[in-house]
Amino acid sequence: MTEIARSRIFADAASRIRAVGPNVVALTGAGISVESGIPAFRGSQGLWDRFDPMEYATIEAFSANPEKVWGMFSGLLPLLLAAAPNPAHLGLSGLEGAGMLRSVVTQNVDGLHQAAGSRNVIEYHGSFRELVCLSCWKRYPMAVWSPGDAPPRCECREILKPDIVLFGEPIPWGAQATAEADAKSCGVLLVAGTSAQVFPACELPAIARLHGAVVIEINTEETPLTRTTTDLFLKGKAGEVMTKLVEAVR
Ligand code: NAD
Ligand code: ZN
Repeated sequence: MTEIARSRIFADAASRIRAVGPNVVALTGAGISVESGIPAFRGSQGLWDRFDPMEYATIEAFSANPEKVWGMFSGLLPLLLAAAPNPAHLGLSGLEGAGMLRSVVTQNVDGLHQAAGSRNVIEYHGSFRELVCLSCWKRYPMAVWSPGDAPPRCECREILKPDIVLFGEPIPWGAQATAEADAKSCGVLLVAGTSAQVFPACELPAIARLHGAVVIEINTEETPLTRTTTDLFLKGKAGEVMTKLVEAVR
């Protein structure tokens, strides 16, 4: 694509956002946090060479062998605890601050949108901030565990689960309802860094489009959305693309 064609897509995306702001909703996935040092599931690997998410990140795996699944959590948590927001997270909080964005629906569990200053964040897959006991439902702050510790236990002796949605678990009801309502009512859905392969989050772009929204997608690679649902595809790293897009909106 020529530089002129690329500039036109950015200008078009920015004018779509300006036309409906603040009725813009963002849908983010693991790719938006890659530039913060947290590996995504798909795309470039790292942690996931050692841990197949389909084997480790399921509720069945956790129930059968929580120590084994904590092997994955103990590798991921230090990365999450050390990570700082990157320009993509900051760009979205800037858009919200400028009255151009209503909410961020995130599949991520890393808390980086909030750390960047976003206020209206819907955590579709929960978060790593808390731990929950699947036996008595008592909750604990993540701070009861430190890197290097054995898996943390509830006072009832059960091994605690981070309050994230594993494959096979339902989406928290409030998050599901709000995300769906936001998708149905937004004028622009800005989709960033998701492979759109995890159900039911991957349905939100099609729901938005069916209800009249323009779908703008940011990703380093094409996804199943790109040719079916996306109106404007901005190819590239989320941090770089978001910075350029926010500048164009202003
Ligand atoms: P995914 O891992 O399936 O896909 C990541 C997507 O991001 C891919 O399409 C890839 O091409 C793209 N990508 C990679 N680097 C990018 C960059 N710098 N800029 C823009 N795009 C980039 O992620 P998913 O769709 O979110 O689904 C995986 C599930 O696992 C989700 O629930 C996700 O939140 C969770 N997960 C979360 C974290 C986190 O909280 N940071 C990390 C790993 C997995
Ligand atoms: Zn308990």
